[in-house]
Amino acid sequence: MTRPLPTPVTDDHIHIDPVNGRGLEAAKEFQRAGGTHLFLVSKPSWSFGIAPAKGGDFVPVFEGTLSIARGIREMGIGVFPVLGVHPAEITRLAEVMDLARAERVMTEGLDVAAGYIARGEAIALKSGRPHYEVPPEVLAASNRVLRHALVLARENNCAVQIHAEGGPCADVPGMAREAGLAPGRVVKHFATPGTPLVPSLIARHEAIPALAREGRPFMMESDYMDENSRPGSVIGPKSVPRFTRRLLEAGELSEEAAYRVHAETPSRTYGVEIHLP
Ligand SMILES: [Zn+2]
Repeated sequence: MTRPLPTPVTDDHIHIDPVNGRGLEAAKEFQRAGGTHLFLVSKPSWSFGIAPAKGGDFVPVFEGTLSIARGIREMGIGVFPVLGVHPAEITRLAEVMDLARAERVMTEGLDVAAGYIARGEAIALKSGRPHYEVPPEVLAASNRVLRHALVLARENNCAVQIHAEGGPCADVPGMAREAGLAPGRVVKHFATPGTPLVPSLIARHEAIPALAREGRPFMMESDYMDENSRPGSVIGPKSVPRFTRRLLEAGELSEEAAYRVHAETPSRTYGVEIHLP
């Protein structure tokens, strides 16, 4: 066991996949490196071999995610499940059905996810819009799906993690306010520092020391996919604890700043409690 870190260490966006990846072994690696809490994000339906035709088809995706969450929790790691519909699903859906129906499958899937939040089984929604170039009608449909997610978040008093195009997403705070949701409850996954949303930065992001010194609120993530078929395409489950330790030891992150990144900001954004175990 490596020396424990002085603060909680929270991965704001990680996937653990016992079928296609290393599963609990990857979570163990996170813990051994000093990780204490993680936001477990549901994977796209295709990772489960599901081709959804209605919102209810996401149930096995969410149940699968929650079952992994229980396994990780038993290891003594704090787990916060984030459920939703990956924005890229719309492209796959629109290949096999018309766009209006694809949009409905997406919004219904989010309704199902919101049910888990209402019952206290998950803590945040995942939504967004394609991070790649899409035809204008697909972008418009995706923005309607995102608006739906923001309304569901307001109704359930929860946060939304969004996966979207690179860049600030400058229009999203306005969309959130229109939905009645405070923009401080919208997290940009794989963020760049300029976003007006709450940035979740990849652990190796070079702007972390500067942002920490400025006292800017942000979180750290690995975006570990846990897929054995793509071992080189991602950084490992240890990356958030590893980079945190490195920055602390180099004096580039004060203990106070680390506490802000790993406990204060996620607690405030998601409405959860994060303490040292
Ligand atoms: Zn991800």
